[in-house]
Formats: sequence, structure tokens, C-alpha cells
Amino acid sequence: MMSILKSWRLLPTLLGMAQLMTIAAMADAAEPPPNIVILFADDLGYGDLGCYGHPSIRTPNLDRMAAEGLRFTDFYAAESVCTPSRAALLTGRLPVRSGMCSDRRRVLFPDSAGGLPANEITMAEALKSAGYVTACIGKWHLGHLPGHLPTRHGFDEYFGLPYSNDMDRTTAAPQGRAAFLNPRDAYWNVPLLRNDQILERPARQEHLTRRYTEEALEFIRRHKSRPFFLYFPHTFPHVPLFASDRFKGRSARGLYGDAVEELDWSVGQVLAALRREGVAERTLVFFTSDNGPWLTQSEQGGSAGLLHEGKGSTWEGGMREPAIAWWPGRIGPGRVTSELGSTLDLFATSLKLAGAAVPEDRVIDGVDLSPLLFGTGPSPRDTMFFYRGTRLYAVRHGSFKAHWITQSAYGPDAPQEHNPPLLYHLGHDPSERFNVADRHPEILDSIVAIVRRHQAGLISAPTQLESLIGSSP
Ligand code: MG
Repeated sequence: MMSILKSWRLLPTLLGMAQLMTIAAMADAAEPPPNIVILFADDLGYGDLGCYGHPSIRTPNLDRMAAEGLRFTDFYAAESVCTPSRAALLTGRLPVRSGMCSDRRRVLFPDSAGGLPANEITMAEALKSAGYVTACIGKWHLGHLPGHLPTRHGFDEYFGLPYSNDMDRTTAAPQGRAAFLNPRDAYWNVPLLRNDQILERPARQEHLTRRYTEEALEFIRRHKSRPFFLYFPHTFPHVPLFASDRFKGRSARGLYGDAVEELDWSVGQVLAALRREGVAERTLVFFTSDNGPWLTQSEQGGSAGLLHEGKGSTWEGGMREPAIAWWPGRIGPGRVTSELGSTLDLFATSLKLAGAAVPEDRVIDGVDLSPLLFGTGPSPRDTMFFYRGTRLYAVRHGSFKAHWITQSAYGPDAPQEHNPPLLYHLGHDPSERFNVADRHPEILDSIVAIVRRHQAGLISAPTQLESLIGSSP
């Protein structure tokens, strides 16, 4: 009798515990969405990191990031030059849909009047409306006039260069590429901005990687208690190459290696800060590059490893990039995937993780890579379109890639059309050397059908890259 009474008297306590457990489960379900950090190199090649086989550039931090996370072998930038590539990353859309590409001027320049159209929805805007605090630290290159700066595209904070570090060349610079062999700040009158204000001009380029990194660490420290989005597009290893005193002259690969090794240091600093501030287990960090190596810069340009061609080209070397995803406790360590992914996918992936709605009033070309990241399923991406400006040059589907048009990255050669297209099996032949079109007519047919479907619904926006300051558009 006593024991029953005792049990009855315990019941409210048990109910209380059950309630507490329910509340705990609810709190768990309502756990804040993860922080998103995108570390974006400029002109870094597929072969330029230790974990991608470079023999003389030391990248211990990126190698460790790969060992702790997921490394991609077949990840693509959305375009082969800066401006369209960045527009695609931030909007999840092919540049041809936003107008952020051109056949005449492939990127924005200091005399450009245009920029990312205000009606595009950036990752920063979408994440901000889901409660994130947002920062862009580094090179923007999506319009440098006040109406086009990051602060107009959803970024609460901005610190960096508005375009490439080789622009605004001064009369102090030696002719041609000689300026890159022994670069000096005075050769380029590039401004360093904080939000909408010029902080310094010309920017002290040898300090940029260190200062960007300090800004990033400070942003993480200030906002560790709420979800944040840090978009960190580095200035280097785009030419002219600079490194701080700690790194200059230290790499066995020369100045290019110095710049990459400092970038690697920066990655290590960011990951260490996330750990130190106790947020590593709720942060997705993604590292990749905007386009392949600038091969015409000779020793000042990077390497695409075994891939053909580089920056500016729709061959693999122009767009296939090193890519590493890192999230301790969520992304299993030491994984390597050969499934497809693209910078186009970071938009949908981030919005999904943030619980933000992916826009339905426009075509989004990216897919949510979560199944691939977390090892729960295959990549939803099986096709990659290779545009040069407004024209579709090549398409990859599965292991095969068909080229309708080929053209060297730079130089006077006209585009060369192929009918039937060239066909390469990228598994057997990652260097795209052996055309197997005559052996696989059925593969060509299936890729042709994919192209027809893609082009049938395609609406190209007017280009934003050709209007000049002071002239009517
Ligand atoms: Mg670039």
C-alpha cells in the first residue's frame, strides 16, 4: 500500500521530467541553424594544394581541413573568370540568367558602370532574412559603384577590394607583365574599402591576406552567439602576387607559393577561431576557388595539375577546382568524393541548412548538396554546363563531357566549332586528350537532349558588363 502511495506521489515528478524531456527535444529541434563560411581563393588551380598533389607548395592547414572533412575531385566553379563566377556563387544562377557575363568584356573593370542587378537574390540577402548576420571580407568584383557594393546586396559589413588587384594600373608600373615580376603597391591604384568608404588607396597589398584574416576572426568573435554568414573571397593568388614578411621568400614555389602558403595560414586561423569560440560544431566551412590558374602569367600563375588549360577556358583546367567541405561532427572525416558539385550549389545548400526558402519565382541552377556532404545519399547534380560569356561551349553529364566549341583561354584564336562535338570520358581521360565521340553516339544523343531542354527554357538577361561610366547604357 505504501509503495503504491509513494508511486502516486512520484507521478507529478515523473510527469515533470517527461515535460522537461519534451522541452529539451523541442529545444534540440529548434537548435539555431549553422553558421556558413565560404573561403574563396582567386585563380587558384586544381593542382596548387598539397592535398591535390602539388609537390612544392606547403598547405598543411588545407590538407588538415581535407583530412577532417570532405574533399571533392570533381567540383566546378560556375564560370572560368572572376565576375560571372562570383555572381553565380552568390545567386545560385548561371551568369547568363543574371546578365553578369559578356562576350566582349568578360569581367567588370574600374570603368564599368554595371554590377549585380538589384533584383537578383544573393545568398547574403536570403540568409539575412532568415536571421543571419552577414559579412563580405575580400574581393567583391560584382560592381564597384555605390549602388552595387556588398552592403547593397545583403551584407551587413564589407571590408576589401571592389575588383581585381591588377586593375587601376598606374604610370609608375613597368610595361606589360614586367610589373608582375617585382610588384609594388604603387603600380596599382586599387582602393581598400570598409563598407562604402575608401579606407586606403592604393591598398597595401602585402598586408591584405593578414588584414582580411584579422577582420574575419573579429567578425566570428563578435557574432559567435548568433548564426552568421561569412563570405571570404581572397585577393590572392591572383596577380600581382604579394605576401607579408612572414611568408615572402619562404616557399619553394617562389612568390606564387608564398601567396598560397599565406592563404593556407589564413584558412588555419579561421578554423582555429571557430574552435576557440566554441562554434566549430555548428559551422559549415567550404573552401574553393573562383576559376582555374592564369596560365599566361607563367611562373606567376598557378597549375591545373593534370587538367587541360586554365582560367578563361571551358576545358577542365578553367573550371574544375580544389574544394573542401568541413563541419566537425556533421561531415565525416577523411572522405573524398568524385561526385559532381559546383559553386552554383552553395546557394541552395546554405539556404536549406538555414531553413530559408529557396526562391521559386526564378530558375535556380544550383542543387542542395546536403546528401553528399552528410553522406546520406548521392549528389543531386549529374550535369554541368560550361559557358564562356553568353555561349554554351561544353556540357558534362556523368563521366562524359561534350564540347561544341573550344577556344584557348587567352590570345587571338577564334572559337572553333565541332560538329559532331568532341567527347571525352573524364574518368578514363581527365586531361581531355582522347576524343571518343565515334564510339559513343548514344551518349552524345543523351547530352544533346539535355542541351535542348536547357536551352528551351532559357531566358538570357541583358549584359551588365558592357556599360561604361559616363555613357548611357
Ligand atoms: Mg579569378
